[in-house]
Amino acid sequence: MRFKINEIGPEGLPVNVSVTADWVAAACPDLEARPGPSGLGLRGRLEKTGDDYLLRANLRGEMETTCARCLEPARLALDLPLAVTFVSEDADDAEDDEDPDLVKLEGGEIDVGDQIRDEILLAIPINPLCQEACLGLCLVCGGNRNLVACGCKTEPAPTGRLAALAKIKLPTQQ
Ligand SMILES: [Zn+2]
Ligand SMILES: [Zn+2]
Repeated sequence: MRFKINEIGPEGLPVNVSVTADWVAAACPDLEARPGPSGLGLRGRLEKTGDDYLLRANLRGEMETTCARCLEPARLALDLPLAVTFVSEDADDAEDDEDPDLVKLEGGEIDVGDQIRDEILLAIPINPLCQEACLGLCLVCGGNRNLVACGCKTEPAPTGRLAALAKIKLPTQQ
């Protein structure tokens, strides 16, 4: 994830890093998501612009997590453009902690790991779904209702409750 700035020539430096499951586990310990079978990678270029360095790249591939409804794997395709400026250590005027697209260089190296971590954390929804129309698990038998229509009556209550409400309301409407 680290690039030495003295290796970035006038023609730039290609960036092509694979994001592994081990790396995600270390960088995002609280995240229950890992790169999917087709992998995840950052591809692009680092370029020198004046005293600064510009990363233009795409984080592309897939992440795999657990469907919030049926607990089967949920895969999420990612194709996220990144444009980050790394400013030199002595450029005090350029320092801006509020701007996540402006990063201060440290030790003559550019570490793109923070950017990858932030993009992954933003991309994973709180309740990921295997599919938009996931039917989830049956509350009665626990079966995956995407796979088997178990036929359990999961919602017998509403009719009874509605009927009771109707009975209560009727007198007040008279
Ligand atoms: Zn699901
Ligand atoms: Zn059932």
